[in-house]
Amino acid sequence: MDNFLYERPASIADALALMAQPGVTPIAGGSNLLDLMKGGIARPCKLIDVSRLPWDAIEALPDGGLRIGAGVRNTEAADHPLVRKRYPLLSRALLAGATQQLRNMATVGGNLLQRTRCPYFYDDGFRRCNKREPGSGCDALGGFNRGHAILGASEHCIATHPSDMAVAMAALQARVVLQSARGERVMPLSDFHRLPGDTPQQDTEIAPDELITAVELPPSQAAGHSQYLKIRDRASYAFALVSVAVALELDGAGRVTRAGLALGGVAHKPWRVEAAEAALAGRMPDEAAANDAADALLAGARGYGDNDFKIELARRAVRRAIARAARGSTL
Ligand code: SF4
Repeated sequence: MDNFLYERPASIADALALMAQPGVTPIAGGSNLLDLMKGGIARPCKLIDVSRLPWDAIEALPDGGLRIGAGVRNTEAADHPLVRKRYPLLSRALLAGATQQLRNMATVGGNLLQRTRCPYFYDDGFRRCNKREPGSGCDALGGFNRGHAILGASEHCIATHPSDMAVAMAALQARVVLQSARGERVMPLSDFHRLPGDTPQQDTEIAPDELITAVELPPSQAAGHSQYLKIRDRASYAFALVSVAVALELDGAGRVTRAGLALGGVAHKPWRVEAAEAALAGRMPDEAAANDAADALLAGARGYGDNDFKIELARRAVRRAIARAARGSTL
């Protein structure tokens, strides 16, 4: 690991002033960044430790939504009474991620900023990785790509975003609050992560001088009819081959009034398609509606050899998750 400078600002204002300097990298829980540094994949000159800033609160919003500070640990977010009561989907997704030890360290902001787990990206013994070394190529394209993307990929990168939490937040139509010395901006979480295109080295829309300060969840009436279904190679401590987050708001007759739907493990970002949610709205959440939603979500899907199975797996997982959500969920 290279030598680096380290600074721990005392306030958010101090942190934002430091972030305005060139060559700085924020660190919170460090559960991804330290791996990247040990592997020589990330070589920061100066680390800004934001782990002790006063942004670790979970607060109810006047409109019935929830604001989760970027510094809240994943364990704390999953266990918080308001998250469990209003957004059990998010709690389940958090608990499906990583291990208890990692969830105790990882923060909500860091979870959104974690990088792909593509094995070629983490091993610089492989020469070609456009995300690690722009312009070098992509060894996953003709290599071992069982876990890779089936949607939104490009000839430059077929990596997937690894977060479970972000998939649930996408289905819940969360917003990301970003702050810099220039001011604050808020964007839909669905727009925060990028598709790889010809610049796969850039994972998100965050600017170099910005920090995520919070995630805001809009009010939801879907708590009783939501589901996070994660399909993986083993029961714990494994990334999703495919995951599905579903949040259904139903009327008295059981008809969908509003749907949130997102896939994980299939793209460079949580995969949300408004047409898929529209395919459920106004209908009973039955098999026909679930099939239409799956068709819309998976339109344009393609495999790269080892991961061809994911297309059918995702279709079946969407159907199963919608059926479970429709029946009613328990935490
Ligand atoms: Fe690198 Fe992306 Fe190709 Fe993986 S899929 S080797 S991260 S360019």
